[in-house]
Amino acid sequence: MSEESFDAIIVGAGLAGCVAAYVLAKEGADVLVIERGNYAGSKNMTGGRLYAHSLEKIIPGFAKEAPIERKVTKEKVTFLTDDTGVTLDYHNGRDQTAVEESYTLLRGDFDQWLMGKAEEVGAQFITGIRVEEILTQDGKVIGVKADGDELTAKSVILAEGVNPVLGEQLGMVKRVKSDAMAVGAKELIELPQKVIQDRFNLNDDEGCAWLFAGSPANGLMGGGFIYTNKSSVSLGIVCGLHDIGSSDKTVPQMLEDFKNHAMIKPLIEGGKLIEYSGHVVPEAGIHMVPKLVDDGVLITGDAAGFCLNIGYTVRGMDLAIASGEAAAKAVLAAREKNDFSAQGLSSYQTLLEDSFIMKDLKLYKELPKFMENPRIFNEYPKMVADIMQSMFTVDGTPSQPIRKTLMKHCKEVGYMNLIKDGIKGVTSI
Ligand SMILES: Cc1cc2nc3c(=O)[nH]c(=O)nc-3n(C[C@H](O)[C@H](O)[C@H](O)COP(=O)(O)OP(=O)(O)OC[C@H]3O[C@@H](n4cnc5c(N)ncnc54)[C@H](O)[C@@H]3O)c2cc1C
Repeated sequence: MSEESFDAIIVGAGLAGCVAAYVLAKEGADVLVIERGNYAGSKNMTGGRLYAHSLEKIIPGFAKEAPIERKVTKEKVTFLTDDTGVTLDYHNGRDQTAVEESYTLLRGDFDQWLMGKAEEVGAQFITGIRVEEILTQDGKVIGVKADGDELTAKSVILAEGVNPVLGEQLGMVKRVKSDAMAVGAKELIELPQKVIQDRFNLNDDEGCAWLFAGSPANGLMGGGFIYTNKSSVSLGIVCGLHDIGSSDKTVPQMLEDFKNHAMIKPLIEGGKLIEYSGHVVPEAGIHMVPKLVDDGVLITGDAAGFCLNIGYTVRGMDLAIASGEAAAKAVLAAREKNDFSAQGLSSYQTLLEDSFIMKDLKLYKELPKFMENPRIFNEYPKMVADIMQSMFTVDGTPSQPIRKTLMKHCKEVGYMNLIKDGIKGVTSI
């Protein structure tokens, strides 16, 4: 067993882990981060958009020095069927404050930068080593076992991401069920900067965040996404894990079909595939939040289920950053009292309750259930496309009042379904 005892050992150099390390080390705490990947970000995946607010409060002006790709000014949401697409397109040319902005980014670059910031203020990182086990004594966490070595610490922050094996080992996290998860597959496709700007109608550093419901996930819970980077686009699909067994298409096939959709193909024509990745994403919101604190240990980021899929946007990174900060602040408070028991670390829970994290998770608590409704991914995209087709087809037959056209297509889904789903949809967001 190592003689040295750190104030905190952090498992995982994702956003939650790197931020926790930065906040702790900045206040003079003795911190070690252990990351199984060969560098921070090497194992991490995201669709692509970071809402800046939580990191902006920790490192003001970070976007000026961090490797961000583009500032998102264009939002698009499309209902996609196999042969149609109906899009809501919002261009935001208004001035925004730094906390209101959002950026596209690539985790390989961004996480390494964040790890560098933590190292600058004194945090230590070991990469390429997996934490195998959490060490306990009399029911209290006292360190970790990694690569055969036992390292002791007054506290351990679990920032291990969506599959919290160590949290489970401690009995704090219940085995995650498939209906609480979605699987994502993503391609990074290289294109010249000018081509991206022309195809997505963007100026210089402007970026586009584009979500798709309907056919990308084969009509199952999930959808597709495209985020524009400087000289590449991040394109992918997400599909509910529990639905995959009943799908007649594999996830790679869904991705292939999405890329070949008539609406998507011209956007990536001539592009070069430079990266392919797959990852799981927590989808059950507050229902999957585990026990967050115990004697000598805290759980943060995706490992704590802090992720929100609101349909028109996905948020996990801003929650990972804010929860990493909260965990670090709780360790600093415990360090002052020299009490690293669950009671000594309990300010973590209070900080989370008072922050947007728990408030937003509570606000959207009904949403995961609402998203299980297959009509959202199947019948509604088709209904919207049928309405559009009727409105824009002029073939010489006498026109119908728009009211009648709308009623006809709504009837196909069922008025009661529409009313029920409408009420449920509105009350769950
Ligand atoms: C397809 C997809 C699209 C998404 N789109 C968005 C989006 O557009 N915007 C957004 O905000 N969020 C998005 N998310 C969610 C977001 O990416 C996550 O919420 C976020 O990455 C969580 O950060 P984290 O630090 O908690 O975990 P991670 O980034 O997963 O980091 C966990 C780290 O722990 C390491 N680790 C795990 N176990 C061990 C161990 N035993 N020993 C050592 N190291 C270990 C891993 O290697 C990893 O580096 C998306 C997710 C997916 C999958």
